[in-house]
Formats: sequence, C-alpha cells, structure tokens
Amino acid sequence: MIKRENLFIDLLIGAFTIIFIGLSLNFFLKKENPSPEVNNNIETKKELKPLFGYSQENHHFDKLKILPNQFLADILETYVFSYSEIAKLEESAKNVFSVRHLRAGKNLTFIAQDSCSNPFCMIYQPDPFRYIKYNLLDSMQVEIIENEFTIEMDTLVGEIKSSLWASMIDNGHKATLIDKMEDAFASKVDFYYTQKGDRYKLIYEKRIIDGEFISYGNILAAYYQNDQGRHYSIYYENDKYEGFYDFEGRPTKGNFLRAPVKYSRISSRFNRNRFHPIKKRRIPHLGTDYAASHGTPIHSVADGVIELASYTKNNGKYVKIKHGKTYKTQYLHMSKFAKGIRKGKSVKQGQTIGYVGSTGLATGPHVCFRFWKNGKQINHLRENFPPAKPMSEDEMPLFESIRDSMIIELTRGEVQLISNPAT
Ligand SMILES: [Zn+2]
Repeated sequence: MIKRENLFIDLLIGAFTIIFIGLSLNFFLKKENPSPEVNNNIETKKELKPLFGYSQENHHFDKLKILPNQFLADILETYVFSYSEIAKLEESAKNVFSVRHLRAGKNLTFIAQDSCSNPFCMIYQPDPFRYIKYNLLDSMQVEIIENEFTIEMDTLVGEIKSSLWASMIDNGHKATLIDKMEDAFASKVDFYYTQKGDRYKLIYEKRIIDGEFISYGNILAAYYQNDQGRHYSIYYENDKYEGFYDFEGRPTKGNFLRAPVKYSRISSRFNRNRFHPIKKRRIPHLGTDYAASHGTPIHSVADGVIELASYTKNNGKYVKIKHGKTYKTQYLHMSKFAKGIRKGKSVKQGQTIGYVGSTGLATGPHVCFRFWKNGKQINHLRENFPPAKPMSEDEMPLFESIRDSMIIELTRGEVQLISNPAT
C-alpha cells in the first residue's frame, strides 16, 4: 500500500514538473522569439487611434468627397434618411455650422455601428483645427469640436538672392510666413527694395497637431539686415500695448504703411514724365501702381476719414482718405468697396477698404495708389514720414528686458554681438 501511494505521488510530481517545464519553455520561447503574427497585431493596434472620438475597431467609417454642385440632401438620400429628417438636420445646423458652408472638394465622414447599419453621425472638417459633428439620430444635434494643438518655437535664417519670396519658398516656407514678416516690419522695411545679400532671421511659432505642422503662429521677434543696418521687430503685449516694436520701442507700423496691398509688385512707379500705355502720349504718373490679383484686399495705409468713395470714368471705383491736416491717400480701379466704406466713415490703419480690380482706365487688375502732402501729389516711397511715438518712459525697462532676451536668441551663433540697430 505504502509503496503504491509513493509511486502515485512520484508520478504526480513528475507530471507536474513536465507540465511546468513545458509551460516555462513555451513562455521563454515566446518571449525570445515572438512569432511575426503577434508582432503585427501589436503594431496595428497602436496605429488605430480613435477617429473623431470613435474607436476604429468598433465602428464603420465611410469617407466621401463632396462633388461640385452636390447637395447634402443627395448624399444623405443614398443612406436611408427621409426628407423630413434631412430638413430637421439642416434646421438644427443653421446656428452652429450651416450645411450651406459645406464645400465641394472637402470630405464628409459617416460613422456607423457597423457596415450594415445606417450612420449615426456625419463629420465635416473645415480646417485642421476643428471638426463639425452632425448627429444623425433623433436629436440631430450639431456641435463644433476643437482639435487640441501645441505650439513649438522655431527659427528661420535667410538671405536674399533674388527676392524675399524666392528666399522663403526655397527654404520650404509658405507665403503666409512672408505675410507675417511684412506685418512685423510694416513701415520699417521696404520689401519692394530688397537687395541681394540682405539677411533676415525670424523666431516664430508653429502650430502642431498629432506631431504634424499645421500652420504658422505668431512671429515673436525678427531682424532684417540691409545696407542701412539691422532692423529689429519685437512682439510685445500687455494691457496697454500690443504689436511689433523696433529697437527703440516705437511701433513698426509707423504712421503710414508702405503699401496698400500685400503680395503685390510695383508695376509702375511715380514718374512725372511717363509715357501712358493706353493714351499713347506723355502723361505724368502721379501715383504708384501695385499689381495684384483681382479681389486682393486693399488696406488703408493709415488711420483717417473717408473723403470720397466714388466712381469716375478714369479712376473707376476709388476711395480717397484724409489723414489729419497734412496727408491724403487715394486708391483707384477697385473691383468693389469693402462693407461699410462710404464718405465720412473713419478707418483704421490696415483696415480693408476695397478689393483690387480694373475698373476705369486700367490695363489689368492693380491699385493706383496716390499720396497728397499739403495738397500736392508726392512719391510716398521717397517721403520721410515723422516717426511714430515710442511707448511711454515707464514702460521701457520691461520692454527692454524682453527685447534684449529676444535679441540674444536672434543673434545666437553669430560672431558679432548686438550690432548697431538701424534707425
Ligand atoms: Zn497708376
């Protein structure tokens, strides 16, 4: 009896040991030598992030591009939605994000529980920063959901070889950054007179979503170096001040902007002896022509009051603005006036007053920009305007500390330290 019991226990222990070794071996083998299938599964799971807040494993996604002249109703009808349901959706979307704002070429994403059921919501993404969620169930509720983005700082150093445009695009940047740079220097640097060898550096923000660059944020500081020296533009903001300031704490916008349109080129300069291309005789050109595409916004170059918003055969649609006692400006050949632009209205510097066109005597879309000083037409590009007032004395220490830390960043790695700023 005793022997048999011992044998039984021995067998039992033996069996357990074999099972244990077997399991351990299996475990170690798996660990050291994972099969390819296991690996793939892990990777696929990592990639499938929730889409618009819904897990991709448990939902069916249907993405389609809106075609030109296609109505939402046509799309919804291909799913099983009734006219009254579609009408209800359009009604509840009205005050949130109207279905009239859906644009051809953009995508609609329909989300359903599975491939057999009707979608319970529709997603439209007008830009990378937000998406619109149209609930297709009873409530037909519509909501705008903001995507979270992070801001990263970056720097850009460039040198002009042909134009500022070419220099930026060669560096892989977009026109919007040129736009922001023109804003930062405003009247301080004339970008129509850039020269080979001019250098610049920007410290700017980038908006990032899911590790991807989405758009440029603000420029924080910049310099532009040309034959006059180095111009600085520092972004400064508190309760009293907001904008770009030069080395001495004067707003870079100055009293007058250099040009009434962005992304333009000067197609004809101020010239008292010009040969007129249409009238075929010598007629002085008492303005500066900025060629830009039809519909480009035209800005008032300074604060002022509208003296005329009118039409004549030669000028086409034009606006004339009075800036204090001394100066007046005029903008010709507009395709149309901006909303609310009429005689007697006050305008701010940079405000859109109209749009580029070719009304009146014009060969192509451009703005003929005219400048009066004490009743006499002058070449504004040759005029030295009185500098804008600097910020108040008691503000300067704070501004200077921010300015100097920015200048250290801007000149990091350069051989010379803070070089003499241009005035
Ligand atoms: Zn002109």
